Amino acid sequence: MKAELIAVGTELLLGEIVDINSPYLAGKLADHGINLYYISIVGDNRQRGLGVLQQALKRSDLVIISGGLGPTDDDLTRELVSAATGRELVEEPRVWAELEQWFLRRYGEDYHIPKHNRRQAQFPRGSRILGNGSGTAPGFLLDMGGKKLIALPGVPGELRDMFTREVEPLLPSLGGGRRLVTRNLNFVGIGESKLEELLGDLLATQTNPTLALYASGGKLRVRITARADSPEGASALIAPIEAQIKERAGEYFYGRDDETLEGVIGKQLTMRGLSLAVAESCTGGLISHTLTNVPGSSAYFERAFVVYSNRAKEDELGVPRELLKRYGAVSAEVAQAMAEGVRRQANTDYGVAVTGIAGPGGGTAEKPVGLVYIALASPGDTIVERHLWRGSREEIKHRTMLAALYLLWSQSKC
Ligand code: ATP
Ligand code: MG
Repeated sequence: MKAELIAVGTELLLGEIVDINSPYLAGKLADHGINLYYISIVGDNRQRGLGVLQQALKRSDLVIISGGLGPTDDDLTRELVSAATGRELVEEPRVWAELEQWFLRRYGEDYHIPKHNRRQAQFPRGSRILGNGSGTAPGFLLDMGGKKLIALPGVPGELRDMFTREVEPLLPSLGGGRRLVTRNLNFVGIGESKLEELLGDLLATQTNPTLALYASGGKLRVRITARADSPEGASALIAPIEAQIKERAGEYFYGRDDETLEGVIGKQLTMRGLSLAVAESCTGGLISHTLTNVPGSSAYFERAFVVYSNRAKEDELGVPRELLKRYGAVSAEVAQAMAEGVRRQANTDYGVAVTGIAGPGGGTAEKPVGLVYIALASPGDTIVERHLWRGSREEIKHRTMLAALYLLWSQSKC
């Protein structure tokens, strides 16, 4: 089964709105093991719409169109499907009766229903009507022997509602019973090319499951996708590959699927009964914000200081003025004093501190923009790291936050 999606709407081509229907439908098709080969976007235009539809029906077995089902002149989908399939539009009395009822309830007896709305009760001959729980426009499914065409409303909420209620139950039979199961393994503290090197032959040779490597925002994700007759069968295919990947890169692996680094840190600290305090300069609270995004973080997150000025570093953390003068606020010595200071002030097991130059101004030859020191004070010792990041102010803050979490995660592992 080869599937294809068409999103209809000129506003999508103007960049006014982003197509979110196609990714939603793509994910659903993948879940059901249906191969999706093409996604198109076309404007509310007869000629181009017809062209895209004809091409789709030629090369694909299942075509799903979103949008253009409404009552206005630019809603062309039913007309175009009729033209592309040679099936005339016929009125469904039941749908028309429902539409009448809807208008009656909404506007009262005297309301004259616009002629255009009547079009919403018309469907290509032989269509199966897909009920719309939330809007007025029903969708339809046309089964033409080998080829199937499904038309859904454009409004994302209506599309999802109709899809889950009317279309999803049909997918197992279309996908031939083969399910795709995906598992994501999340990594941090390692570069994309290094991880690629570690996994090299695995990435290149796998066919079922397949492997793919993604990088975003300083984190890496390996996606394992298996195709099998049952979810259990797919999981059994995934397990040995997952084990091999962890054997090679386990020290950078922090969680599966939606597990976050801050969530895993939370679990580690809770399990070990350890507490944490944070002192932030250049990240301005981002580390604390991220750590406290985890429900239940009050079990280990004691307090935090945003110590932006030298005076704050002295007042709140007891960083010696002498140290600040001699080495400057962005230095290994001050980062260490901040981490030890916050740990002492808060009386916690761990103290995390960061100080750096996020830019774009304020850099010198000796201390350029992107220079950051991260320190972790723990019962035994204090670790200090030096980083030199590239990027915008926001990117430097984000990378610093992530590196601080990575340090905390790797040091507090059980
Ligand atoms: P209506 O009855 O509202 O006219 P429709 O089925 O004709 O519904 P469209 O006219 O194509 O759908 O789209 C209605 C609105 O839904 C758009 O203005 C847009 O805001 C949103 N929309 C449509 N398609 C998409 C899409 N692919 N992704 C995100 N939003 C969309
Ligand atoms: Mg419309």
